[in-house]
Amino acid sequence: MNDLLGRPLRNLRLSVTDRCNLRCEYCMPEDDYVWLPREDVLHFEEISALVDVFLAAGVDKIRLTGGEPLLRRDLSSFVRMISSKRGVSDLALTTNGVLLADQIDALKAAGLGRITVSLDTLQRDRFKTLTRFDQLDAVHAGIVAAHRVFGRIKIDTVVIRGVNDDELAALVEYGKSVDAEVRFIEYMDVGGASRWSPARVVSRAEMLDALSRRYGAIEAIDDPASSAPADRYALRDGATFGIIASTTEPFCRSCDRSRLTADGMWYLCLYATRGIDLRAPLRRGASVEELKAIITSGWRGRDDRGAEERLALGDRRAFVPVQDLLRKDPHLEMHTRGG
Ligand code: SAM
Repeated sequence: MNDLLGRPLRNLRLSVTDRCNLRCEYCMPEDDYVWLPREDVLHFEEISALVDVFLAAGVDKIRLTGGEPLLRRDLSSFVRMISSKRGVSDLALTTNGVLLADQIDALKAAGLGRITVSLDTLQRDRFKTLTRFDQLDAVHAGIVAAHRVFGRIKIDTVVIRGVNDDELAALVEYGKSVDAEVRFIEYMDVGGASRWSPARVVSRAEMLDALSRRYGAIEAIDDPASSAPADRYALRDGATFGIIASTTEPFCRSCDRSRLTADGMWYLCLYATRGIDLRAPLRRGASVEELKAIITSGWRGRDDRGAEERLALGDRRAFVPVQDLLRKDPHLEMHTRGG
């Protein structure tokens, strides 16, 4: 099933909680937040019922995210529910890694396929400043445990000028040492990124420049089959890394991602200001056909190109003003939608 720009419905991100145990400066910089009402948060059985409908509508890749997904109690039982469904070709998890070491074996046993850990700095003080918690050791332990159980993993790093842009090579070296591919993400002006400004974005071109000064020639890896947003590169020694240039070179034209929040709102674009409510029909007992019709008509009418539209703006600032809007609607937050 394709949308108006010919993009298939394939990739579903399930945010299982809006709560997080870190307060990353680029995602949750405020002192307090409005949370989703607990009674609105879907039970695992409810999410699972929606996933069945999405699978019937064409989804085959699922990523669990949040907030911090490992904060959701008994996540592995949910992983088991999803991994056992026919039609799931890829089941992945994005986590900040703080709670990973303790849960990794249960997640693997439940059928999780892949792990991405977010890590923005290797410096303890900097980690604390950036996330407000002294948890770098726990993240390292999570990464080591993930490697033990899953083999090669991915590490996602948001690069911010003046914050961690001097650590690109150190992170590539760290990736080599723990058998992980690091993917550098351009700082995005998503909802929640209230400290964003164009001057703080380090572009893909700048990152490549900095890395080639250290490593010499860097070769782009041509992978036409990949629908991943990251462009991948190889160093002379064979080590690889990725860059996700969502801010300066958005990939809207091939974006097959949509996001379901923990309370059942379905967003067709990270920048969408409105979502499609699936909780209300689900809880009122809508049939599978009715739910499928909502999803189908939503996707068929999709023409979002949020990141491209942001790029076209002349005077670009933080996407959502904190006081006016963000405080009133937690759905606009990146930590509610999942990254
Ligand atoms: N807590 C989990 C984690 O840290 O991976 C999952 C949720 S987090 C919102 C998902 C991803 O979104 C993380 O890799 C995070 O770095 C990314 N992210 C959040 N805000 C961002 C921003 N302003 N620009 C780019 N990436 C961002």
